[in-house]
Amino acid sequence: MKYRQLGNTDMKVSEVALGCEGMIGAPPQFVDALVKTALDSGMNFLDNFCAEPDVRDNLGVSLKGHRQDMYIQGHIGSCWHNGQYLRSREMLHVKSAFEDLLTRLGTDYLDVGMIHYVDNDPDYENVFSGWLIDYVLELKKLGRIRYTGLSSHNPITALRAVKTGLIDVLLFSVNPCYDLQPPREDFEEVWKPENYQTALTWDPVREELYRTCEARGVGMVVMKAFGGGDLLDAEWSPFGVAMQPEHCLHYALTRPAAACVVGGFRSVEEVLVAARYSDISDEQRDYVPFLSNVPHSYKGKCIYCGHCAPCSVGINIAMVNKLHDLTRTQETVPASVRDHYRLLDHHAGECIACGQCEDNCPFDVSIIEKMNQAMKVFGY
Ligand code: SF4
Ligand code: SF4
Repeated sequence: MKYRQLGNTDMKVSEVALGCEGMIGAPPQFVDALVKTALDSGMNFLDNFCAEPDVRDNLGVSLKGHRQDMYIQGHIGSCWHNGQYLRSREMLHVKSAFEDLLTRLGTDYLDVGMIHYVDNDPDYENVFSGWLIDYVLELKKLGRIRYTGLSSHNPITALRAVKTGLIDVLLFSVNPCYDLQPPREDFEEVWKPENYQTALTWDPVREELYRTCEARGVGMVVMKAFGGGDLLDAEWSPFGVAMQPEHCLHYALTRPAAACVVGGFRSVEEVLVAARYSDISDEQRDYVPFLSNVPHSYKGKCIYCGHCAPCSVGINIAMVNKLHDLTRTQETVPASVRDHYRLLDHHAGECIACGQCEDNCPFDVSIIEKMNQAMKVFGY
């Protein structure tokens, strides 16, 4: 397992982490097997959005004696009311659900207190202009959560939240299908097959979101990397072919700011397959053959796939493009980006315009032009 820095937090998190979707309605033994397999595989980060008391209880039992081995991200506003899940902004519900979560998990703090599921402007206003954000910041001050977070599926809402400077971690849905969808306030819309088949063009808002997270040091934890399983199924995938988990993981983990992917694994085998991601080769992770079924959607857009390599003079073209993209819409080049660029073995200014890379790029990116642009921005 490999580990990545989660934004500006003090956490180095496993590239692949444990979600709780597969634990809903499952017996304690099953939850225990998932948790123990995740721990044995090196996973050190858990996202629990579940309000279900049995999931929380089961996790608490399985994590006993392992609190120091697992960062816990718990959701604030995910409540259990009248025997069912309720996303709530009511003070009474939210506060009691938070206390319930800590009690059942058997811990006195969360590593990330994640404001749960904010997908539209009215809810955003409700959260950030009302009592809830003050409550979350107070929890942080008291050490009951170490970092603040927010989960969203809507890039416009997420971007607003990130720009407040109040959010340390963003939990966001990322996969190659959603990256081609326009922002939607109703998340259910992205699941509709007709929306998979239309409007397949690169969504610039999502790109801006990833860039802004990276620039501001907001760590991005990825959810829905498999599109709820649709991308693993040829019948449902917009690309017409079934991707493997490692392809989806690699796509998500090559977006700027992405530190880890949480998977809602439904079996021990799924945990083991995902955990292998860190150890397999780039060839095995390569997602381009799947995306090239819709090449027009990505035409001219670098998705950092690395297919243009090798460069005649050794430039890591995908990385130069990624770092250059991170400077766009910034008034000055962020120091961290400039430093990453400096550490590259070869720089855009060394490009001899041989054109070899452009022949290899499946998405017709004008690489020579991009090297020129990068050279102007970075100066060499
Ligand atoms: S320039 Fe093309 S081949 Fe190279 S990383 Fe970008 S998209 Fe991939
Ligand atoms: S055109 Fe420039 S970036 Fe592309 S292979 Fe040649 S030297 Fe490398």
